Amino acid sequence: MMVGLALVLALGQATDEHARQVVERMTFPDAAAIKVWTDQGPEYKTVLDVVLKRGHWVAAVKALEERLGPFGDAWAIEVKLSEWGGTHVARGDRIGEKGEIAFNMRRLGEYERKLRDFRKQAEELRKQGKRMTWKVPPIKYERILHHELTHVLQGEYASPGWFHEGLASWMGGDLNYVKAFTVAKKPVQSIEVDLSADPDDEYGRGMLFFLWLEDRVRVAGIKKLYGATVVEGGDWKQALEEATRLEWAKIVEVERAWSAKRAASAE
Ligand SMILES: [Zn+2]
Repeated sequence: MMVGLALVLALGQATDEHARQVVERMTFPDAAAIKVWTDQGPEYKTVLDVVLKRGHWVAAVKALEERLGPFGDAWAIEVKLSEWGGTHVARGDRIGEKGEIAFNMRRLGEYERKLRDFRKQAEELRKQGKRMTWKVPPIKYERILHHELTHVLQGEYASPGWFHEGLASWMGGDLNYVKAFTVAKKPVQSIEVDLSADPDDEYGRGMLFFLWLEDRVRVAGIKKLYGATVVEGGDWKQALEEATRLEWAKIVEVERAWSAKRAASAE
């Protein structure tokens, strides 16, 4: 027993050490780039204190390497503070050995400011003996790292939006996406129904698919799927059939029923 335990500990440390090396090789915004945003209000500092904390990055890389697979030692990954239109708070990708994660600082700052206002209101209501609860819980900023780093791992692997965003959202583990989907009363349709007209739906719907898959094949099965698709370049549909030992038509049917129930229980 002792030998087995020592081996597990040694493996654990090795993973930790590699995650640390991956993060040490990453490029983060310098003091001047950070100041551009922290000068604009305390809400920006709140966000940056979380999303730039190296300990969060090491934890995220470690979780991804354990659940999916390793980051390439030759990859150059840059973290940027940026801003763009639309609702997305961050983006991540990798072309060849060049990875990039950008935070939509304008959007994150506005989001954090709104949360502050809500918390103030909640505090006022609490004084009157009333309770305010979140319909959709706030985004967990540190989980954005898991999500975007998954996109870095996925690189240029071609798959449908729900598969791409579903895997990243499942790794992110923030049920905010599923909640947003169910609170908006979006129907859980077949995974084959195209949601690209409202790409935000691909997050919640795709996450439901991967929650079903985890229930069916466990984390080890998803790791195998990742290996067969993103690493080996195999067809995602075929890999799903092999992972679940179900025909595609059956997957579509069983998954929709499970996810519809899961979505209903998340409301
Ligand atoms: Zn994404």
